[in-house]
Amino acid sequence: MRCEMSNVRRQTADGRRETQGARRKAHGFKDRVFYALRFALYHYRLPFVVCLLLAVLFILLSSVSVCLAQADDARPFTALRRETYRVASGLFRVETPIPAWDSRDSLTVAPGARLWRLRSFEAGGTAYALCVNVETLKACVVQEEDVKSVGGVNVPEALASSETSQTSHTALPGGNGVEGISEVCRLGEGGQGSGGAEETPYGRALMRHARAPMMDEGKKGLVLTVDLCPSHRAWDRDLFDALREMRSGEKPLPVAVCISGAWVRHHSADFEQLLTWHREGALEVTFVNHSDTHPVGERGDFLNNAGVDFEAEVLNAEVTLLMHGAVPSPFFRFPGLVHSTARLEALARYGLILVDADHWPGRDHLATDRVPEGILLIHGNGNERAGVAWFFEMIRRTGMKEKLRDGAGRVISLAECARAE
Ligand SMILES: [Zn+2]
Repeated sequence: MRCEMSNVRRQTADGRRETQGARRKAHGFKDRVFYALRFALYHYRLPFVVCLLLAVLFILLSSVSVCLAQADDARPFTALRRETYRVASGLFRVETPIPAWDSRDSLTVAPGARLWRLRSFEAGGTAYALCVNVETLKACVVQEEDVKSVGGVNVPEALASSETSQTSHTALPGGNGVEGISEVCRLGEGGQGSGGAEETPYGRALMRHARAPMMDEGKKGLVLTVDLCPSHRAWDRDLFDALREMRSGEKPLPVAVCISGAWVRHHSADFEQLLTWHREGALEVTFVNHSDTHPVGERGDFLNNAGVDFEAEVLNAEVTLLMHGAVPSPFFRFPGLVHSTARLEALARYGLILVDADHWPGRDHLATDRVPEGILLIHGNGNERAGVAWFFEMIRRTGMKEKLRDGAGRVISLAECARAE
């Protein structure tokens, strides 16, 4: 015991000596720096002061440029608070330019644009609205105070505050299904007598596809959709590399990526890469909600299963996308393409347009010697390599890449497809 005690004392004393030595060393270094500065200031006063000023200026300029770069890339809505995320409504006519964000840019919504408010939420103490432009079907995030101050809510007060099921506000009229949305659309613009929101491309697409899934609509071209369902496998990066090389003239290829919240959370670096390609203009991505956890169900009934929290599946996927800097589009693809009439009507309550598929080559063994028309579904999550292989073979056999480059072939975006009558 005595031996151990003396060892401890010795170690403590050694430790103290080391600490004192280190302090002396640190003091010595400080002294030398101080002496060197005094020497430089005394003998080379002017050059020293000039150098010092230049160094300070350099530090200031570089920090300002870093701040500017960060501000440019900033997505203020990424700090959104989930508990504030609500289903919202209201049609706004923009009268003065207002700032907005989409998945690529900070932008300005021009006067004359009409925005349908899909969701409201708070981030960093500011209230935001996720909106869809009713003419272009493109989504953006704006500040609530901007839409309210420039356009005002045209909807009667009871409807304007009709954040559905989650709050104590007034529920949608005419039931909670398609009729409810129709009624809100009609009343939404009725106040100004300039036609109902159901008469806009967004309203028409919403109404049409609440009853019939969006299929066979891409007859003017091909709509590419790539599903990213949850997967432990690595994504099919070679598929995305091929898509980046397929440009229509100078334009990046439009591709709808139907993405689950779980995939984003488990593959955040890959998602960041996808978003970067979109922002750099290497791809024109439409981010489509493909549910949050993508439940399969014991009998393969997917979201039809009565035990599924449908609202959580819809909203949590959107929240995940927003928190990762992407703005979800007003489209939704059901996992497994499985949906009941009840689920279709429920979907319309969230203002989302259903997207099914005309071709699923990983399953339906489509011929590969011609470019298909309509909505094409390929999995890019590593789970269905047969579909990716089919796509590569189809490109090779049809010369699709060259056709696109020369303007002989056409791939259209989901929004274009939905706007087509
Ligand atoms: Zn899926």
